[in-house]
Amino acid sequence: MLNRNDQLDAWDRESFFHPSTHLAQHARGETPTRIVTGGEGVYIVDRDGKKSLDAFGGLYCVNVGYGRPEIAEAIADQAKSLAYYHAYVGHGTEASITLAHMIAERAPDHLNHVYFGLSGSDANETNVKLVWYYNNVLGRPQKKKIISRWRGYHGSSLMTGSLTGLDLFHKAFDLPLAPVLHTEAPYFFRRPDRSMDEESFSQYCADQLEAMIVAEGPDTVAAFIGEPMLGTGGIVPPPAGYWEKIQAVLARHDVLLIADEVVTAFGRLGSMFGSEHYGIKPDIITIAKGLTSAYAPLSGSIVSDKVWAVLEQGTDAMGPIGHGWTYSAHPVCAAAGVANLKLVDSLGLVDNVRDVGGYFRGALADAVGGHRIVGDVRGEGLLAAVEFVADKDDRTFFDPALKVGPQIAAALLKRGVIARAMPQGDILGFAPPLCLSRDEADVVVQATAEAIDEVAKSLQ
Ligand code: PLP
Repeated sequence: MLNRNDQLDAWDRESFFHPSTHLAQHARGETPTRIVTGGEGVYIVDRDGKKSLDAFGGLYCVNVGYGRPEIAEAIADQAKSLAYYHAYVGHGTEASITLAHMIAERAPDHLNHVYFGLSGSDANETNVKLVWYYNNVLGRPQKKKIISRWRGYHGSSLMTGSLTGLDLFHKAFDLPLAPVLHTEAPYFFRRPDRSMDEESFSQYCADQLEAMIVAEGPDTVAAFIGEPMLGTGGIVPPPAGYWEKIQAVLARHDVLLIADEVVTAFGRLGSMFGSEHYGIKPDIITIAKGLTSAYAPLSGSIVSDKVWAVLEQGTDAMGPIGHGWTYSAHPVCAAAGVANLKLVDSLGLVDNVRDVGGYFRGALADAVGGHRIVGDVRGEGLLAAVEFVADKDDRTFFDPALKVGPQIAAALLKRGVIARAMPQGDILGFAPPLCLSRDEADVVVQATAEAIDEVAKSLQ
């Protein structure tokens, strides 16, 4: 066994190009490699037998928890009966058709058609193409720009990496591409003027957006894309009134709204969809992660009746839509999705999020909110963050070179709990499986308080 482990280590450094990894350090053996071998409930275990409570649910995706036999069996049954058939020119399988129906049943009333992809990135790529197609069909070839937010996260392909508003995803990749613009992040804790209350900051964000649309020319702006609650950019709930004010601006200028619900759909915020949670009426919703709880790769673009009518008009005029992938609506992934959504219902996970989410965030705020290096504890449902500051009163941040966030995440891991050091700022993120219990929440909170103390002492 030892030999086999050594061999895996060597192959990993030699051959495996890891995503989102410091490649040079990893190849030189300066960063740890962790080989994960199993998972059960909210825990994962590695080849050394070390168990960790995964308070980030993989990458906020293993919503039903690890080791669910219902999904594994659905995948196996589908693979045995029909591992693959394509979905082009009207083909389907029981799994893909059933899943589309289940999604439409759960989505807000005016969204009824689902295009299936494989990742959040490709689903957002699809959305941009649909928006462009829509405006071409309507005879508005100039209306093509997409506005995203700084700190938004929408993927890392060429177009979706452009939509993403994080420096790391642009630097040295020649991004963002031309038709993408970024506006103010609805990040109340980092608002430019601390005298603003939530409503006035929301108004400020809406005014900034409107000024951008007017400056660019409303006849050139096609869509606005946003996560109902900012995720990878810092896990930040919108300030009061934000979505109402943003939607009023979009309506005034006939700009479509894409709600990127890759993280928030299927219960994460304590509602089936984040759009429903915040009173958002999107034209397209992006889904992925929680659709299969990551038991198989699957994403989707849920299209509103308004957009669908124009897509039908387009194909009547131009023929079949020129968009599709070999693996769109892959039957094995669709079978995982059907079994997963059934589990979300039968386990009452959305209710559990409301109960345990509120408990967890309250306990976290009580345990660490008063700490001298904690500037903000925030969240909604089972999505939460702790943001660290060098000085609480002045709201000054640590020098990024100190890597305070990553140090705290490492101190937490030593205590057997996984949280994520978010990529921009010293922010510790939590997005545990939606089946988290109150006892498990207590474990996370206690370990977090200890980890913060340990790192804060070393900074003195
Ligand atoms: N959109 C959001 C809101 C996300 O959080 C992510 C990934 O974290 C994506 C899109 C991209 O999804 P993927 O990594 O599956 O391409």
